[in-house]
Amino acid sequence: LLQLFIPLNALGFVYREIRQALVNVERLFKLLGDKPAIEDAPDATGLVVDKGEVQFEHIHFAYRPDRPILRDVNFSIPAGHKVAVVGASGAGKSTLARLLFRFYDVDQGAIRIDGQDIRNVSQDSLRSAIGVVPQDTVLFNDTLYRNLAYGRPEATEEEVYRAARMAHLEDFIHSLPEGYGTKVGERGLKLSGGEKQRVAIARVILKNPPLLILDEATASLDSLSEQAILGALNEVSQQRTTLVIAHRLSTIRDANTILVMDGGRIVESGSHKQLLAAGGHYSHLWAQQHSSQKESNDDKKDASD
Ligand code: ATP
Repeated sequence: LLQLFIPLNALGFVYREIRQALVNVERLFKLLGDKPAIEDAPDATGLVVDKGEVQFEHIHFAYRPDRPILRDVNFSIPAGHKVAVVGASGAGKSTLARLLFRFYDVDQGAIRIDGQDIRNVSQDSLRSAIGVVPQDTVLFNDTLYRNLAYGRPEATEEEVYRAARMAHLEDFIHSLPEGYGTKVGERGLKLSGGEKQRVAIARVILKNPPLLILDEATASLDSLSEQAILGALNEVSQQRTTLVIAHRLSTIRDANTILVMDGGRIVESGSHKQLLAAGGHYSHLWAQQHSSQKESNDDKKDASD
């Protein structure tokens, strides 16, 4: 009887795991909104990235038909360039990243990578060409080493250590008694927002994709952490076509082009210098962020006086 019971018990465990997985998938679809899941075209080919140029051609998009989110959004990111998108909360910035990753299909227009419409290529090939540093990185209940190596599980130890070094994580890891063997995630050590983002950067370094999406964290980081992240991001975005979804203007001054979005449209574009000189939306946003930064610095100063 015992022999029968053990496998049955194991089956019960598997059943519970599967049910949990289904619940998680359902939650994921809820998060993704009302649109049907994306499927590969029957004749989908593998994406071929040659130079790595990205084009958003006259994109219109709505999560729900009665509420347009993007209206005639038209821009390109030349190979190896960094384009940053700024604008008020809800302007549609992160939606651009979701569309490039093809979580949704555009309603009108097309997104092309080196001339290939992303609706005609397999999702696997598309997603393996794009690295993402998200706002909030998911860590597994496993060691730090395994969490880093998730970027490319077949990477050698040397490669994982190098990625951690390039992501400015080494000092942090060496400060932990168990180093790379430290258990992290919900049931382990909790990492700060900045540390998690550096784990994501290390994963991207290991993945080594030609295209990159950086979805900057909204929460402000302390300036030491911000400097470390900026350094790491600059290294990782060298030579890669990069789309930055920016919440703080100070981090994107060096972008080749900055797009300012308002109400789902691009209302201004240019370099930091050009946009400041133009005296429009961007220069107002810049002035706003600087005065609020100054206020919060003054508050800190007052508190320490
Ligand atoms: P933030 O700076 O706050 O991150 P954002 O400019 O990145 O904002 P998006 O996340 O692109 O804004 O969202 C644009 C609009 O689309 C918002 O009004 C948001 O409520 C809506 N939206 C986002 N995701 C969904 C979804 N899955 N289903 C329905 N509406 C959505």
